[in-house]
Amino acid sequence: MSPVMVVGAGPVGLSAALALRAHGLPVVLLEADPEDRERPGSRALFVHRETLGLLDAMLPGLAAEITSYGRTWHTRRTLYRGREVYARTFPPPSGPPPFTSLRQTDTERFLRAACERAGVEFVWGARVTGVRSTESEVHLTGEDGRVWTGAFAVAADGARSAVRRGLGIALEGTHGEGFHVVVDVADLPGAELPLERVFHYEHPGVGGRSVMRVPFTGGFQVDLQCRDDDRQEAYGTEEAVRRWLPAIVGDGYGERILWVSTYRFLRKVAASFTDAHRRVLLAGEAAHLFPPFGARGMNSGIADAAAAAEAIAAGTGEAVAEFAAVRRAAALFNSAAAGAALDHLRPHRRTVRVRQRAAAALAPVLPWCGSWLEHAPYGPRHGAPAVAGRKY
Ligand SMILES: Cc1cc2nc3c(=O)[nH]c(=O)nc-3n(C[C@H](O)[C@H](O)[C@H](O)COP(=O)(O)OP(=O)(O)OC[C@H]3O[C@@H](n4cnc5c(N)ncnc54)[C@H](O)[C@@H]3O)c2cc1C
Repeated sequence: MSPVMVVGAGPVGLSAALALRAHGLPVVLLEADPEDRERPGSRALFVHRETLGLLDAMLPGLAAEITSYGRTWHTRRTLYRGREVYARTFPPPSGPPPFTSLRQTDTERFLRAACERAGVEFVWGARVTGVRSTESEVHLTGEDGRVWTGAFAVAADGARSAVRRGLGIALEGTHGEGFHVVVDVADLPGAELPLERVFHYEHPGVGGRSVMRVPFTGGFQVDLQCRDDDRQEAYGTEEAVRRWLPAIVGDGYGERILWVSTYRFLRKVAASFTDAHRRVLLAGEAAHLFPPFGARGMNSGIADAAAAAEAIAAGTGEAVAEFAAVRRAAALFNSAAAGAALDHLRPHRRTVRVRQRAAAALAPVLPWCGSWLEHAPYGPRHGAPAVAGRKY
C-alpha cells in the first residue's frame, strides 16, 4: 500500500498522521525543521473537550494523558476599568473536563510521542517546495530535489503553506488593525496566582488597554490588546513587557518571562480545501487563519485532521470532496464567529464602546450585562464552535 504523505509536524499534521494510523494506513510525515527543533511559546493553550474526544479516537488514552498534564480552571472573571463585573465558579464536572489548558509545545510533545508509538514515519529536514497531483497520485518535491509519491497528501504546513501555494489555491479574507502582545510567564513557586481566567476591559494600569490572563501548567499567558497607533517597541519587546507586566500581575515576574510575541488578527479561509484531482487535503492553518480569541485555530485544525483521515480512508473522490465542503463550511462559520468577537474587542463604532460602558455600569443590578461582557470577546457559541460543521 503506498503511504499517505502529511506535510508539516505542527499540531494539525501530527493529528492527521495519528488519525491516518488509526485507520490502519501507512504514513510518512515530512517536516521542514530538524528533529531537535525548539518550538516557540504557548500559542494555542485551550484544548476543547470535543478535540480531546477526537484525539482519544485516534489513540485511546491520549486525552487522559493530555488532561492529566494540562490545567482546567473553574473560575472566570471579567473586570471593567478595575471593577469586577462578572465572576463565576463552576463545580468541577463529574465526567471529562470541558477543556484543558497547556502550552502548544506540550500538546505537540504528547502528539509527537503518540505518533512515534503509532508507527508514523518521520522525515525531518524535508522542506516541501513542489506539488503535482494526477488522477491517482500526488508527487511532492523537496527543496533538495527528493521526491515523495503517494495516493493522497495532507497539507498541514501552516499559514505560509507551500503546498497550498503550489496548487494555486488562494487564501481569502481580511486582517485586523493593530496588534496584540502575547507573553508566557512562569509561576512564582509557592506564590501561584489563582487558577482562573481573567479578562480586563480597559485596564487602568496599562493606559486603558484590554488584557487577558489565562493559566497553563507551570505559568500563565497574558494577552495585551494594543491600540492601532501603538508602536511594537513600546509594548511588544521583552524589555517593554518588564515595564507593563507589574501593573497586571504584580512584582516579581521580570525574570519569569518565558516568551514574548506579537500577532495581528487574521481571518482568512482557503478558496478550496482540496485540489482539482481530490488528492491533496488542506488542514489547519494551511487552510484557514483565525484570531486566537475563541480558541478556534488549533481546535478546528485537529477536527480538519480527523475528517481528512476519514476521507482518505474512504479512498474516493466523493469523500474528499465532501471533506473539503464540510470543513470549509466550518472554517467560514468560525471566521464569521471570530469577526463578531473582533467587532467587540476592537470596536470601530462608538456605539459598541458605549454599550460596553453601559453594561459595565448596569452589571451589579442586571447580571446578564456582566454575562454579556464576559462572553462577547470570544464570539458566539454554537455547539462546539471550534469544530462547527464537523460531520465526522
Ligand atoms: C502568537 C500566537 C498565538 C496563538 N494563540 C492561539 C490560541 O490561543 N488558540 C488557538 O487555537 N490558536 C492560537 N494560535 C494559532 C495556533 O498556534 C495555530 O492554529 C496552530 O499552530 C496551527 O497548527 P498547524 O499545525 O496548522 O500549523 P503550524 O503549527 O504552523 O505547523 C506547520 C508545520 O509545518 C512545517 N512546515 C512549514 N512549511 C513546510 C514545508 N514547506 N515543508 C515541510 N514542512 C513545513 C512547520 O515547520 C511546522 O512544523 C496562535 C498563534 C500564534 C502565532
